[in-house]
Amino acid sequence: MGEVTLLPEMPEVETLRRGLVRAAVGQRITGVQVTDERVLKRCSIGDFAERLTDTTVKAVNRRGKFLLFEIGCGSLPSFHLVVHLNMKGSIRRFEADVPTQKYECVRVGLSTGDVLVYTDMWTWGDWHFDDASEYTHVSDIASMGPEPLDDSWSGEVLAGRLAGRRGLIKAVLLDQKVVAGVGNIYADESLFAAGIAPKRQASGLDAGECDALAASIAETLGNAVRLGGSFGEYVDLDGNPGTYDPRVYGGKGKPCPLCGGLLVKTSIGGRGTTYCPECQH
Ligand SMILES: [Zn+2]
Repeated sequence: MGEVTLLPEMPEVETLRRGLVRAAVGQRITGVQVTDERVLKRCSIGDFAERLTDTTVKAVNRRGKFLLFEIGCGSLPSFHLVVHLNMKGSIRRFEADVPTQKYECVRVGLSTGDVLVYTDMWTWGDWHFDDASEYTHVSDIASMGPEPLDDSWSGEVLAGRLAGRRGLIKAVLLDQKVVAGVGNIYADESLFAAGIAPKRQASGLDAGECDALAASIAETLGNAVRLGGSFGEYVDLDGNPGTYDPRVYGGKGKPCPLCGGLLVKTSIGGRGTTYCPECQH
């Protein structure tokens, strides 16, 4: 791929979530160490460590690109730890005595003897608590669009989200209020699979195009989840890279896998966008 990959997107977060379910659910949190507090939003190091130590991880869920840890604390009501990896955040599992990692911010000890280590070169990640199970305190989650891997997702749902939206379809797809979890790679791949040009007006897609695009978004994201996310700098909880290989993203100047014409790169809403001018209309 020809450009810096900005990850993780939804399939990478979902891959991480599945690893965390296996590694952490049912385990006690034995201790917490914060080495860079810039990723703690809305709480201090002291509060953070105190609230988490000697609790139990009851579930790890996901909404869009947010990881949602349900934390149990004896007979008290559960509370939620919300984690957003943003551009460079990563969680890895190691044995307890692993030395401090490069860009380490947070380390969580588990009763298995393992530690979960969060690293983040840019510290744009976001760790915070939310006591409301509906995540009403987190406006990004409260206002988030539908999940494309849910059974209820359809062309009709997408058409409803696009109705009255100003802007180009590529840019609108990246708005998490329209649809949850679609980032730059998977927006380009979904538009290519649906044969829709990225510079089309979002509100100008007809019902058949919305059906095709909704299906290609679900299929693209579903495939990427099955393959452990995109091949690139991102790795899963145990350090394994994903094997999803984009067909057009990052492929400027390479032959289109469908027609053999050359793929073109442009900028839409400030984001690099690769497409085939022959196959996408
Ligand atoms: Zn083509």
